[in-house]
Amino acid sequence: MLHWWSRGVDKKDICDLRTARDVERIKEAALGKGEAVVIGGGAVGLETACELVRYGLRVTVLEALPMLMPRQLDADTSEELRLRLSPHFDVFVGVQIEEIEGEGAASAVRLADGRRFPCGLVIISCGVRADISLAQEAGIQCARAVVVNERMETSAPDVYACGDCAEHKGLNYMLWAEAWEQGLVAGANAAGGSKTFGEADASLVINTPFVSLFAYGDTGKGNGPYRMENVSESAAGTYAVNPAFAKSATRLFYQNDVLVGATILGNLSHMREIKAKIREAQRNA
Ligand SMILES: Cc1cc2nc3c(=O)[nH]c(=O)nc-3n(C[C@H](O)[C@H](O)[C@H](O)COP(=O)(O)OP(=O)(O)OC[C@H]3O[C@@H](n4cnc5c(N)ncnc54)[C@H](O)[C@@H]3O)c2cc1C
Repeated sequence: MLHWWSRGVDKKDICDLRTARDVERIKEAALGKGEAVVIGGGAVGLETACELVRYGLRVTVLEALPMLMPRQLDADTSEELRLRLSPHFDVFVGVQIEEIEGEGAASAVRLADGRRFPCGLVIISCGVRADISLAQEAGIQCARAVVVNERMETSAPDVYACGDCAEHKGLNYMLWAEAWEQGLVAGANAAGGSKTFGEADASLVINTPFVSLFAYGDTGKGNGPYRMENVSESAAGTYAVNPAFAKSATRLFYQNDVLVGATILGNLSHMREIKAKIREAQRNA
């Protein structure tokens, strides 16, 4: 079976986003367009959708999974995120893309169930995969990415990998905090030192004019049971510099009465404090 991304993605006005140059290409392609479809409702897809709305386009986000950010968010927070975005653009979850239609240039995205979303611009933001061909050709062990141990050593002597191209304990993070930490470990060991990669300080932060989101730690994704504590806060009557901060919902996740994770939708000014509390709770547990 042919996947949709092997059909019709070579048309004009279909963009992906990796570098600053890609941002310029998207800006150019957006000029004079009325509708855009963003394929992929992850952090990059949602931030891109918000920016396109600011450019005056009507935007639709199409997400294959049944909810937004299932890796980072529990179902309630994910739904609240979708609701907060819904005044600004449409989000459809659980969809299957069939084809990007158009003669020469993108004109619509068609789903497997027949629904069509006419558009003059398509942004593909459904994940990245490391180019591991060099490592494969060299006979280095690879899975999704280049397999490394906790010292960032590959299966070949004196060859290290780190960051987006590395896979540690089955995880290819594709996140900055991990890339940074792994880079420090790989560099130190390659220079004769002895460092190991432990837990990186990964938190999700999305900051857009419409919604701000923070997720850190175990947000109900492990083996429960969890106790959840919800804290709502309204900035009504006060001046909110960022409108996305005006209505805030914090959810704290406890396991055996130990704070293990948190999500915040809205005012992120407490995120460092909450992060510190979670880390302290982990240390004392
Ligand atoms: C649009 C976007 C938004 C993101 N937002 C976030 C975020 O909010 N939070 C977060 O944690 N992460 C985010 N990420 C992910 C984060 O940027 C990456 O995980 C991180 O940059 C990985 O670092 P790296 O050094 O492994 O790879 P990169 O940063 O990609 O650096 C690799 C470098 O190697 C160079 N290179 C490639 N091939 C060769 C070669 N053959 N020879 C020499 N040089 C070469 C490349 O040009 C590049 O400069 C985002 C990524 C993208 C694309």
